Amino acid sequence: MPAGVKWVREMVAEYNPDANTIVTDAGQRLQYDYLVVATGCHLDFAQIEGMDVNAIGRNGVGSVYPGPKAANETWRSMDAFRQRGGKAVMTLPGTPIKCAGAPLKTTFMLIDRMRQSGTLERSEIVFHSALGVVFGVPTLNEMILERWAEANVPVVFSSKLVAIDISGHKATFENPDGERTVEDYDFIHVVPPMRAPDALFNSPLAWQEGPMAAGGWLEVDRETLRHRRYPNVFGVGDINGTPRGKTAATVKQSVPLVVSNLIDVIAGRDPSRRFNGYTSCPMILREGSAWLIEFDYDGKLIPSLPLVDPLQDSWFAWLMKVQLLKPAYMAVAKGRV
Ligand SMILES: Cc1cc2nc3c(=O)[nH]c(=O)nc-3n(C[C@H](O)[C@H](O)[C@H](O)COP(=O)(O)OP(=O)(O)OC[C@H]3O[C@@H](n4cnc5c(N)ncnc54)[C@H](O)[C@@H]3O)c2cc1C
Repeated sequence: MPAGVKWVREMVAEYNPDANTIVTDAGQRLQYDYLVVATGCHLDFAQIEGMDVNAIGRNGVGSVYPGPKAANETWRSMDAFRQRGGKAVMTLPGTPIKCAGAPLKTTFMLIDRMRQSGTLERSEIVFHSALGVVFGVPTLNEMILERWAEANVPVVFSSKLVAIDISGHKATFENPDGERTVEDYDFIHVVPPMRAPDALFNSPLAWQEGPMAAGGWLEVDRETLRHRRYPNVFGVGDINGTPRGKTAATVKQSVPLVVSNLIDVIAGRDPSRRFNGYTSCPMILREGSAWLIEFDYDGKLIPSLPLVDPLQDSWFAWLMKVQLLKPAYMAVAKGRV
């Protein structure tokens, strides 16, 4: 924590932007002149009836999202499954999610590990997407679907996980025609719907209308990242109700911009810097190969490394992901952006 910063170790329970105050879960009311919101996504497992995050790692249930322990448990479940083979169900919710590539990478890695174990041929992997696509950038969506078709992994579109019977190994999906239950799976990867944390969701700072209102995301201008109705409020990271940008790479790119725009506002100037929505997703295709995908708000590819073609399988991109990006992420976490 930098010198001169007072760290209040309490959660924000209430935002009152009309009075420039927040209230913490311990009941403290704090006044501010400027507010930067950076509270990330709420993982809404509660929308999936019967889901229990404590069950991750048992009964063939995996989910890499809740944190390192869950990711580790997921890997142990996947590892046991890939050695035996059987029936796997992979999922994608219909809401904006952090690291939209993570459910896809998990699928690619499962395919690769099963191929290595010789169990892919006698197994069934089905991917259920609550959307009409698996990835929001059209070219990449097509490329991913082609790869999965080659690996005999079908995708069921508009199929949203709504309930799970963990001990019974059953998963129920909602689709435009009703509900369908998949029985006797051996492994399931559960990706929860995501939304803003309650305090923000229920506050006037959330989008009140439009596509971002359902998730209660922070209503910022997509270029300046300044709140559209409360000019002394800025947003950083996953909480922002912007069309893309729920990645740590987005945080790394946008924090200096928000700092600079905030300084402008404090000095009485208009925000001078504009964000292009930079989002990065190193998509692991198999052990030793990845695509290093970087794009802007419009889904236009904006590669930053001159020698890495984002649409080519690349050992260097894989090396970047597994070896070189970790120190970069740690530097961001320590405030060295
Ligand atoms: C499996 C997985 C793989 C990923 N892979 C990549 C990748 O390869 N590359 C990449 O760039 N990104 C990746 N990401 C995404 C990346 O982790 C997030 O985009 C990033 O952590 C967002 O940072 P943030 O600070 O906005 O939110 P967070 O990291 O979620 O931090 C938000 C913080 O706010 C706190 N908070 C919440 N509510 C309140 C409240 N009411 N009061 C006070 N504090 C609160 C939370 O406790 C938390 O500490 C991945 C994510 C996952 C889950």
